[in-house]
Amino acid sequence: MSRSVVLIGYPLKHSISPAFQQAAFDHEGLDVRYEKWETPEAELAATVDRLRHAATLGANVTIPCKEKVIPLLDELSDTAARIGAVNTVVNRSGRLMGFNTDVEGFITSLSQDADYRLRNRKVVLLGAGGVARAVMFALLNEEVTSVTVFNRSVERGITVFNRSVERGRALVRSFARSAGKIPLAAPPWGELETSAALQDCDLLVNCTSIGMRYSATETESPLSAALIPKDALVYDLVYNPEETPFLKEAKKAGAETLGGLSMLVYQGAASFELWTGKKAPVDIMFRSAREALR
Ligand code: NDP
Repeated sequence: MSRSVVLIGYPLKHSISPAFQQAAFDHEGLDVRYEKWETPEAELAATVDRLRHAATLGANVTIPCKEKVIPLLDELSDTAARIGAVNTVVNRSGRLMGFNTDVEGFITSLSQDADYRLRNRKVVLLGAGGVARAVMFALLNEEVTSVTVFNRSVERGITVFNRSVERGRALVRSFARSAGKIPLAAPPWGELETSAALQDCDLLVNCTSIGMRYSATETESPLSAALIPKDALVYDLVYNPEETPFLKEAKKAGAETLGGLSMLVYQGAASFELWTGKKAPVDIMFRSAREALR
């Protein structure tokens, strides 16, 4: 029987997961098709239910569904439960299991592509969505020195909506216990310009979608070169385009940079292994991911 793995999220135009996952299935001689199921929020429950069909091995879940999918699943891995976000679903005989492979993707990309160890680093995160939660989990596990999270305040006219700042604070609150003695903070986005935590950090990670191709912010950078600390490693999790506006600003500032492509491939490789039980052909996945971006 031909099987399928699907990608759930909205919109999906920017995603290159179909290209490199299909290349991996083909390389391994597996009769599996990787399909995009673009799913507006109102249709999420019905779409997830379709994953229980025997012909479906599972799914990847992407923006903006990683948190919303949780109540629709039967079981969560320990890591996914502690993060509160799922990027991989496995169909085990009609029961849906949720996993989070972003953690592994994040740590492996830093060690393999930047030869970077997280222990004892001061870290600043921009953004507090699904991937920021996975990154926070990884950072605390690796015993960093501190984490500061900036999430935007949304302004309309003269009104500032604090829901988004609150999302940063909620992220910090939900990890306070596992952080132990590691200090966590969530100052407002407006304080970036004067932030000592930013100027002092060793690792600066963009967990927002700013700069993502086909989005309303595709030409924007979350920070200009003047605010980027030149001694930090600047890591943009946005992978399409490969060189984002943020990475260009970071290079102007003289900082070392890392793009989101390798995290994408390593998280995808971990998902592939969960669906198939086989070792993922990582080199093939990298090659086809780069071709897809071009
Ligand atoms: P979410 O939708 O869960 O979160 C998006 C975050 O970006 C929120 O903090 C949101 O703020 C912020 N944001 C969006 N637009 C703006 C803006 N104009 N100004 C300031 N902040 C903004 O998405 P994810 O966390 O799942 O993904 C975020 C990005 O990371 C995406 O581009 C995704 O492609 C990328 N990613 C890359 C991975 C990789 O392997 N390289 C893995 C996973 C994600 P607010 O709370 O106010 O809405």
